[in-house]
Amino acid sequence: MTVRSTLLRQIYPLYIAVVVLSLVLLIAYASAGFNASYYEQMEKKIDEDAVFLRNIFPREYLKDPDRAQDFVARASAGRSTRITVILPDGIVIADSARHPAELESHGERPEFLRAMKGGRGSSRRRSGSVAEELLYIAVPLYEGTEVSAVVRAAGVLQEPREKLRELYAGIAAAGAVILLITGAAGYMITRRINEPLRTIHQAAEKFARGELDTRISVSRPEEARVLAATLNLMAGQLQSRIEAVTRRRNEVESILAGMMESVIFLDTDRRIKMMNRAAERLLRKTLGECAGKSLLDISRATEMESLGREIMLGRGPVDKTLSLRDEGRVMHLQAHGTLLRGPAGDPEGILLVLNDITRMNQLEAIRRDFVANVSHELKTPITSIQGFVETLSDGAIDDPSRARPYLKIIETQSKRLNSIIEDLLSLSRLESPDTDIRMEETEIDAVLDTVFDVYLPRAHAGGIDLKRKGTGGLRVRVNPLLIEQAVANLVDNAVRYSGSGATVAVSAVREENGISIAVEDTGPGIPAADLPRIFERFYRVDKARSRASGGTGLGLAIVKHIALAHGGIVQAESETGRGSRFVIRLPGPPV
Ligand code: ADP
Repeated sequence: MTVRSTLLRQIYPLYIAVVVLSLVLLIAYASAGFNASYYEQMEKKIDEDAVFLRNIFPREYLKDPDRAQDFVARASAGRSTRITVILPDGIVIADSARHPAELESHGERPEFLRAMKGGRGSSRRRSGSVAEELLYIAVPLYEGTEVSAVVRAAGVLQEPREKLRELYAGIAAAGAVILLITGAAGYMITRRINEPLRTIHQAAEKFARGELDTRISVSRPEEARVLAATLNLMAGQLQSRIEAVTRRRNEVESILAGMMESVIFLDTDRRIKMMNRAAERLLRKTLGECAGKSLLDISRATEMESLGREIMLGRGPVDKTLSLRDEGRVMHLQAHGTLLRGPAGDPEGILLVLNDITRMNQLEAIRRDFVANVSHELKTPITSIQGFVETLSDGAIDDPSRARPYLKIIETQSKRLNSIIEDLLSLSRLESPDTDIRMEETEIDAVLDTVFDVYLPRAHAGGIDLKRKGTGGLRVRVNPLLIEQAVANLVDNAVRYSGSGATVAVSAVREENGISIAVEDTGPGIPAADLPRIFERFYRVDKARSRASGGTGLGLAIVKHIALAHGGIVQAESETGRGSRFVIRLPGPPV
């Protein structure tokens, strides 16, 4: 329902009713006043007739009824009033309407009794003969100081119906005009109040819908203008407050979203109320899926749940290392939980900040293993060197036939130590983020030539056929020394592990997004179970054989890191008893 119809419906009928009621009251008052003055006039006229007749009535006629009758008949001719002359004993001696003989004694009439006492008697009643109401006025007629008769005048008190009808018609016509004018004026006024109210109402509805940049423009009437201005001010303030709150919320949200740490906010029933993106990633669920649920509902985070319970005890912030087991994965988390309190100090919820330390733990384990491995790898040649040095010092140095092989062993072990240290240094350089690997346009054939210069004699000595395959003339942007080292490591392995009569083929070909260098052999191959791990540091399929052949256990790890440093990969395929194939794939357009 619009404002307009409500206002019109409520005010307008009332307004019209008030106008009509006023008109009715006016008519009632006017007709009462009219009647009163009409009766007053009538009374005055009857009174005047009574007094006039009394004054002119000759006293001597009182003793001559016929002349009295005759006088009264003549004196009242043309008058509407009936004149009666009554003697003190009540006998009527003259009457303008009827013959006195027909009339009964008037001695008991109230107006007569009053006049007999010297006053002016008046009475209003219905006469027995005439149906209408009559007004009787009696005045005394003195002879000296004695009241010798009473002159009475009577007139019909006729209601002025005709006059009243005229009056009503006049008032009704004027009333209709008044009603029309006031009705129209009322309608105009309602509209003038209504229009601005409707504008304000529509704007208020917009405010309620959140369109706070709406402004109301109402200039009249003053009350509406002030109301509109107040509402505009309110909307403006509300808008700037909402903007400030939204800005702050966005800031908080972007801070939370940008945090590495997972932040989870639980209510006092330990149900999830809010969490940031890191927490969504950690729990592998969105906030929509988690809101209102407990930590146990969404993942079996029993330790986290008990941490929540501990925090609710309110003994202060709690720090704990937790494990989260979910869908076959185990995560280690460093958790910091705080009880959040409202302004009155009541608990409002729990804030959990979680750091995923799984990777850190893994790296720590890798580091520990690596240190243990390095120590072990270094210890073997050092122990050997120490042992032979001691043996030599104990006298073997004086026996050249023993001393020579011992020195040979010491030399081999020293070279081994050197190789291990050199390989470790290469790895650490490759892994260091500061290492600047300078790429240059390189002819792959030249790299392979250098490798072959070193390995062809060795291969031939071991009865291995080392050959080149594939297209030549490849040029690509790489670090030639590193690529040479990677290919050399692969060829070294192939030559070392393949027995006499085997073939080792090296090929370089262009591929869709770069080049690939493959080293394949017909050697012993690598068991499928070991294949995924051969690129780990110090991982060897056959430890004894690797060491005996001078392997450090770091060769393939270095190849992997050289490939990675070039944005490429290294892949291994093998079948035990048939051979192995290692492929280095390097990205880069042809140059
Ligand atoms: P290593 O110095 O022991 O050769 P690598 O990292 O070069 O260390 O190789 C890791 C392991 O992978 C070796 O110990 C060996 O068992 C296996 N391997 C590497 N290349 C070959 C190959 N061409 N044929 C058979 N086994 C190989």
